[in-house]
Amino acid sequence: MNSTACLHIDQQLLSENARLLHTLCRRQGVELAAVVKAGCGLEAVAQAVLAGGCDLLADSRLDNIARLQQAGVDARMMLLRLPAPSHAEAVVSLADISLNSEYDAIHALHQAALRQGRRHGIMLMVELGDRREGVVPGQLPALIERLRPLSGIRVVGVGSNFGCLGGVRTTQQNLSELVRCAQRAEAQLGYRLEVVSGGNSGALPLLLEGRLPAGINQVRVGFSMLLGRNPFTDQPLPGLHVDVFELDAELIEIQTKPSLPEGEVVLDAFGQVPRFEDRGPRVRGIVGLGRLDTDLATLRPADPRIEVIGASSDHLVLDLTRSGPHRIGERIRFVPGYGALVQAMLSPYVRKQLRAPAITVPPVPARSPFPALP
Ligand SMILES: *Cc1c(COP(=O)(O)O)cnc(C)c1O
Repeated sequence: MNSTACLHIDQQLLSENARLLHTLCRRQGVELAAVVKAGCGLEAVAQAVLAGGCDLLADSRLDNIARLQQAGVDARMMLLRLPAPSHAEAVVSLADISLNSEYDAIHALHQAALRQGRRHGIMLMVELGDRREGVVPGQLPALIERLRPLSGIRVVGVGSNFGCLGGVRTTQQNLSELVRCAQRAEAQLGYRLEVVSGGNSGALPLLLEGRLPAGINQVRVGFSMLLGRNPFTDQPLPGLHVDVFELDAELIEIQTKPSLPEGEVVLDAFGQVPRFEDRGPRVRGIVGLGRLDTDLATLRPADPRIEVIGASSDHLVLDLTRSGPHRIGERIRFVPGYGALVQAMLSPYVRKQLRAPAITVPPVPARSPFPALP
């Protein structure tokens, strides 16, 4: 491949992140569902997470799950995105559990499961404020009632999700409401639910402070495990690596230029009227990385003295005035945020390079690095 851009993946650091989170969760009786969807089906990401001790993988895409299984990844699989009825056969054959809120989809899963001679696990999603997937709490009993005759499925749990659409924070209040929904569902079903799944990385701050409401016994974590950061503040979480992933690309031009464009300014290649501040002549560099490769809004240069000026499809323009001297061909390093990571994973133009192909299983930390943890 002739790309100048490369995404470096450190499996060792990722397995250490997974191991620490898995251990901290287990100490509180919480299962860690390792969300690997940002890995876009890359086996190395899943294997690192499994080496860290997680035994449940979660992904939003059937294609990713299929790719992992074809690569020989052997783990329990949970499908995060609500299944489309037309995919019921694949959902049942690829995933052990799926997240659901619609009777018709669950009915299709039931039929597919009967055809395949299996029983498919259903986690019912409850909408508790973020206004993405899930039934409102008042509708849960009616849905459960309709599911009773469906022998191809088993309701294994309830779950909720926060912070993804409405930007609503995961709190003790909304998770306590989920626990109450679970208790009512158990009374109605007549058995204990295996899983009460309290959300995504946004549930970790509560868990790490020991404030997760009793009754929540699963969290589904991608962002913080992969990037090592608190999703509310973007600050590093103690004990986790923030450098599992790094993106770099080659400098293909270094020239001193005025900072303001010259000539009549019209729409740029992306339909925007660009605006620049006049800072006089600046040393500007171009790296061989662009909007076709990654999400530039969530990409930071690793050297804080380097500033991003702008980008088009294939060119990322940097201000190198304070960081130089640089040379043509030098690789400039970047820290990807979640969006940048996913886009770089997906881009066929970005090479993926494993930093630590052989993982040594990381030791279980004796003490929690989180001061607040009991
Ligand atoms: C993506 C996703 C998660 C994981 O979210 P992170 O913020 O990456 O931890 C959890 N649950 C559902 C339903 C998701 O789609």
